[in-house]
Amino acid sequence: MPWMQGYPFYLIMGSVLSLYMGIGSYKHRHTPGRGSLWILMLLVSLVFAATAGEILSGSFEAKLWWKNMQQGPLFLSTIFTYAVIKEYVSRSSEGLQGRLLLFCLPVVADVLLIYTDSYHHLMRSGVGLATVAGITGIAVEPTVLSMIFIAYDQLFGLYAVYLLAISLLNAPKYHFRHHLLLLLSLLVPVASIFLLPLLRITLTGFTAFTYLPPIIAAYLTLFRDPRLSLYPLAKNKIFENMKDGIVLTDHYDDIIDINTAAGEMLAELAEEQPETWMGASIRPLLRQYGQLSAHYMGRREGQFEIEPPGRSGLCYGVALIAMERVRTKNSGMLIVFTDLSEKKRYEQELLYQATVDDLTGLYNRRHFMRLVQNYSLQFGDGLALLLFDIDDFKSINDTYGHIAGDQALMDLSGRIMQIYHNKGIAGRVGGEEFAVCFFAAGEAAALEEAESFRAAMSGHTVKLDGGYSIRLTVSIGIAFTERKDVTFEDLYREADEALYRSKAAGKNRVTLGRQPTAREAVKMI
Ligand code: GH3
Ligand code: MG
Ligand code: MG
Repeated sequence: MPWMQGYPFYLIMGSVLSLYMGIGSYKHRHTPGRGSLWILMLLVSLVFAATAGEILSGSFEAKLWWKNMQQGPLFLSTIFTYAVIKEYVSRSSEGLQGRLLLFCLPVVADVLLIYTDSYHHLMRSGVGLATVAGITGIAVEPTVLSMIFIAYDQLFGLYAVYLLAISLLNAPKYHFRHHLLLLLSLLVPVASIFLLPLLRITLTGFTAFTYLPPIIAAYLTLFRDPRLSLYPLAKNKIFENMKDGIVLTDHYDDIIDINTAAGEMLAELAEEQPETWMGASIRPLLRQYGQLSAHYMGRREGQFEIEPPGRSGLCYGVALIAMERVRTKNSGMLIVFTDLSEKKRYEQELLYQATVDDLTGLYNRRHFMRLVQNYSLQFGDGLALLLFDIDDFKSINDTYGHIAGDQALMDLSGRIMQIYHNKGIAGRVGGEEFAVCFFAAGEAAALEEAESFRAAMSGHTVKLDGGYSIRLTVSIGIAFTERKDVTFEDLYREADEALYRSKAAGKNRVTLGRQPTAREAVKMI
């Protein structure tokens, strides 16, 4: 095979190529998900170089020395393949370094045993020269112990393939092709461990070549595509700077990721604060909110609004999102918290403005009417509508000024609210006209109530700025009904007519309107 004559040079080229990519990747070592790739590339470069050394050396000792030189990088490259994939799929290197150090300990033992094998033969039962296709390299017969080390090492390769395959299922569609390319190329070195003996490929240094597809694929997908190198960084930044609180829990209900906003929100929501939310259980917090907790425990999606007990004015929207495609009790959940407090405050402000009269704090005309219309008759009681107008109010304005008039209206409204706070609805229905609606056992009771209200009003001293105190009288018209089919308009008309009669009869008095039913009877005649 004439092309085989260039074999050592292919190896050197492989070494240079891996070295080049390793140096290129070094500058991205702080990019999340790319911290270990440059190490893997340098390791592969070393394997290539040492294999070329093995083939190009003349003596058996020199060949064996180069062979031994390959073992460390070869073993480590599987572990670093795992590291690259783990980082790539989880977009984080947190805690990885410590774990890698631990995983590498058996490799150190393995390499030490290989270097000292000529003294104890624990790793190799036989070492010799083998020539395949004109290439002479070292052939070893591994012992069972050596095979155990190899199996340990290969587990990392298999695990990396597994991780990548799982993440492929959940990959956003934009990254699917990159994931697939990586996965397929990664399958080459992992599968070759099992396939090379079956295919009887014993060519020295062939393993080094099997690493070229994944490192080239990784180099192209992870570094050459600017979107991809920006993507995890941007995603992290978005996650951290989002106004919404994001919490990710695992199937034990422990928090496995949380952004700053969520940390602050959970501090407001939870009765008890753990030292750190990361790793803490979400259950005690959710337990305070029954329906939300039930949905979460059943891994059901949903939207909720919650208000932390004892913290008035705070309101949070909570969205539960299942993380797995197939919802099982074992899946994690994504919980998105949105601070709705400001929106709620705004809504309440709007509601207040739409229903309450600015000056007096009583219900405005529109809202008063709406409330009375929905006021259904209580069992055994009738409904009374009391309308009143302040007598000679114009002269208050004329004497003390419009601002003093406003003060008088406010002061009087305070008194009305005091009286009817618990037993009726009070509203300002005109400039200095007010209305009160309450339940009464009968006409006589309604009249009695109106009379005592009139007395209370005329007995009330209104204090004005400048040390003035005045007393006001009111004229009242009252309508009463025990029928459910009487409309609010009918009742209002009766009370208004009665009020007119109070004014006409000399003011500061109460007049009872005819019952609206009687009016209908008159119409029918
Ligand atoms: P009457 O006994 O017949 O009711 O006499 P009156 O002077 O009260 O007459 P009327 O009810 O027709 O006039 C109401 C006056 O109340 C007219 C207006 O200047 C005054 N007024 C209405 N709304 C306000 C207000 O918001 N502030 C002040 N200061 N005055 C008001
Ligand atoms: Mg008046
Ligand atoms: Mg008036």
